Amino acid sequence: MEKVILKLDGLGCASCATKIENRSKNIKGVSNLTLDFARSRLTFEHDETSSEALIKEIESIVLALEPDVKVSLQNKASKGRHHSHDHDHTHDHGDHGHTHGEGDHDVKALVRLGVSLLLFVIGLLTEDYPAVQLTALFAAYILSGHKVLLRSYRNIRRGEVFDENFLMSIASFGAIAIGEVPEAVAVMIFYEIGEYFQDLAVNRSKKAISSLLNIRPDQATVLRNDDWLTVTPEEVLMGDLIRIKPGERIPLDGTIISGSTNMDTSALTGESMPRYGEEGDDVLSGSVVLNGIITVKVASVYAESTVARILSLVENATAHKAPTENFITKFARYYTPIVVFFAAGLILIPSLLSGFETFDQWLYRGLIFLVISCPCALVVSVPLGFFSGIGNASRNGILVKGSNYLEALSTIDTVIFDKTGTLTEGKFEVYHTHLAPDQFTDAYLKHAASLAEFHSNHPMAKSIVDYTGLTVNPEEIINMKELSGHGVIAETRIGTVVAGNHKHLEKQGIKAPDIQSPYTHIHIAVNGRYIGTFDIRDRIKKDAAEAIKALRGAGYEVAMLTGDRRRTADAVAEELGIAIVHSELLPEDKYSVVQKKIAEGRKVAFVGDGINDAPVLAGATVGISMGAIGSDAAIEASDVVLMTDEPSKIGKAIRISKKTKTIVTQNIVFALGTKLLIMALGTVGLSSMWMAIFADVGVALIAVLNSTRVLHFKP
Ligand code: ADP
Ligand code: MG
Repeated sequence: MEKVILKLDGLGCASCATKIENRSKNIKGVSNLTLDFARSRLTFEHDETSSEALIKEIESIVLALEPDVKVSLQNKASKGRHHSHDHDHTHDHGDHGHTHGEGDHDVKALVRLGVSLLLFVIGLLTEDYPAVQLTALFAAYILSGHKVLLRSYRNIRRGEVFDENFLMSIASFGAIAIGEVPEAVAVMIFYEIGEYFQDLAVNRSKKAISSLLNIRPDQATVLRNDDWLTVTPEEVLMGDLIRIKPGERIPLDGTIISGSTNMDTSALTGESMPRYGEEGDDVLSGSVVLNGIITVKVASVYAESTVARILSLVENATAHKAPTENFITKFARYYTPIVVFFAAGLILIPSLLSGFETFDQWLYRGLIFLVISCPCALVVSVPLGFFSGIGNASRNGILVKGSNYLEALSTIDTVIFDKTGTLTEGKFEVYHTHLAPDQFTDAYLKHAASLAEFHSNHPMAKSIVDYTGLTVNPEEIINMKELSGHGVIAETRIGTVVAGNHKHLEKQGIKAPDIQSPYTHIHIAVNGRYIGTFDIRDRIKKDAAEAIKALRGAGYEVAMLTGDRRRTADAVAEELGIAIVHSELLPEDKYSVVQKKIAEGRKVAFVGDGINDAPVLAGATVGISMGAIGSDAAIEASDVVLMTDEPSKIGKAIRISKKTKTIVTQNIVFALGTKLLIMALGTVGLSSMWMAIFADVGVALIAVLNSTRVLHFKP
């Protein structure tokens, strides 16, 4: 499977976008095709069929519907390095060129509309000079409407009767036919003015969002044969040395081997405080070096870097459409034909009944329906709202993997936290050891524990190995088995070592003492005999208590789950003000707790760190992983990824989703409400064509502007 991304520059009409999407989906050999209107990007996958042929076919579909759109290949994943390098560059410059071209285009359109409007006003003021009036109005009509007329001509030839260009043309012809020439001109002028400003608003937010995501590094300075060379990030290999100077973006993840600097990580984490790094510290690609030169040893290739992962996450986000978006797309498909059908009925039935005496009057009323038969306001503003929400979230260091998850987040009523690494730092520290009252020495306890835990990745295991300070000889370990939620059993040269919690030892038939302290205890036994315990401490995160208070204050049910023992869990919960605690759980028990809540009809956000809770994350209504910058498992399994490990981000994420949902709902209610009202009034002769023009153009514009508010919302 190869993925192709096409850029459709100048795509301004949302209903055309839907048509392009639907038709291109039917091309043979194309799969997973989506058109992201808000960013003018069409993405698809294909296998055997050559992409050139498919792109040609898509291009012809696009040009048939929207002749002004420029189709270009933006990116082609999984190609040779040089290839993608070329594309990245053409993309960058292409963007500037595009802005420029668009500016010219804007000016031309603006002049055209300005002149049309002037002619229109002249037409309205020259009633006493019919010849002048007619000429001015006719000129205004052609100047503003020729594009719509041409497009509708092309579309009828293809049998597209429900195309809004065609309907606008019919509406204006009808108005001319009954002598309402100013109305006919107004339909065209305001339709075009509306489109113009809508384009402008959409382009503005597109730009605002892309600049938010503009974290792609252009180049890397790498050491090759004693020379510093400038290459693309894709050309750098693992283990290479790269140098980054002040003002430059760090192109790849790695570790500082010399130098020190402050780094701006805000593009990744939403955190505005600069982060300091010196020799030995890890750095993240996408951060900007502020005030020192650093040399970094590269830890992974570009494709696996933080920045590449974030970009691919966000780029794919709009492909997962929210239920509301899907509803609107479906709705739009039926709305136009239904409205046109009513218009026809309104024109024909009363006229037939009255023997065509009042035909003009009913025709006028029917034309009102035609003018508002385009669902443009919704088709543009709803996806734009969700996209702005995702953009806003990512500016705050919250990656939402799809509009569907953003919408789901707004329905949450229960937030369940994992304890370790989520509410606590997950950085364990042994602060005490207990020895069995036998002949065992502290050195023996440390030796046994380090052998048992050496191969475990569990943070507690690591803290024990660190604490002992022993260099383990792997030859001494014959075999090791880890039981999640329990501990480990290792076959070693000194015998069978069991390390873990009370439950774990009990299962092996070993009794461990009940030590009185509110911390986690890892007990160690050798050959079936208990020899001692490590008392382990974990710190509660700084803003955890505050975040939980805020969530509870806002009416959310908050619970905590942990595999840790009861006493430790209760101590943490009490400090944080969490009333519902489930402790001593195995990972599968955590899964059941969450599923049970969901079965009770609750909408559950589960917040975890991805270490052994990936299934729980995947099973929740919305799975949120935290501090996930380094952890692939967590990013994979969750729907929302918090770039920093602050629990307060949860509240922010929910607030952004609610704001998005509110604005989207406002738009739907407002747009449909206005249209229905005008139609109802129109049926009984109380609304005019002018009002219909407002309901079409004005409403679309207001809805789009309303959507852009999501982008500027401060959670
Ligand atoms: P949490 O739910 O807090 O993330 P886990 O499910 O990872 O905790 O682990 C639960 C308990 O199992 C730990 O508190 C610890 O007692 C025990 N445990 C898990 N893995 C290990 C290990 N490698 N060594 C010792 N104890 C372990
Ligand atoms: Mg855990």
